[in-house]
Amino acid sequence: MTHDRPTPSDAPRNPWQSRNLVDLDTARILRGCLRFREALLERNPWIQFPQSGCSYQFGERRKSLPIGALFLLWDRGEDFTGTCPDCGGRILAISFGGLMNVGGATGVCVECGLRSFHYRGSLSVMANLANTILGETEFRITGAWFGGAVPGNRAQLRAALRKLGCEDLPSEEWARRSPSCEVSLSVVTARPSDGAER
Ligand SMILES: [Zn+2]
Repeated sequence: MTHDRPTPSDAPRNPWQSRNLVDLDTARILRGCLRFREALLERNPWIQFPQSGCSYQFGERRKSLPIGALFLLWDRGEDFTGTCPDCGGRILAISFGGLMNVGGATGVCVECGLRSFHYRGSLSVMANLANTILGETEFRITGAWFGGAVPGNRAQLRAALRKLGCEDLPSEEWARRSPSCEVSLSVVTARPSDGAER
């Protein structure tokens, strides 16, 4: 365990670190999820969340991260929500995972769309944190992909929100493009041939 040096002020450091990337489309999806939460859950709590960095499979059928699981994590898991380092808005986790000894959650600010990362723990630490909340539910984690991700379909949730009357949504083209698999830990998994990827 490392010991952090005391910071100049007593204010706790924000554990969410900016990725200097603004994702307005995911922010729209998140606002729609919050606004139409009950109707979405009634419709189908297993609707996949559009993300490309979650290392786990959920439930008996080993599905990609579903909205039903995310709502529970946002409600009960302080490791899965936070405060935007840029605008002070609410950050909600959209994926999480890790490797042997590093990992955490990727979040997006509901207000400004800034992507941030919360370094929290390894693949197994993140699974345990999530299963503390999901373990007794149908959404419990049942599989993990070391160094990989189980991406979520974009069109399904967008279509569901649209049917419910949500107007501020990403474009249809966004929904058609499948997200490139972004392993949220590319920072620390550089292969010898890797240059700067972005
Ligand atoms: Zn923000």
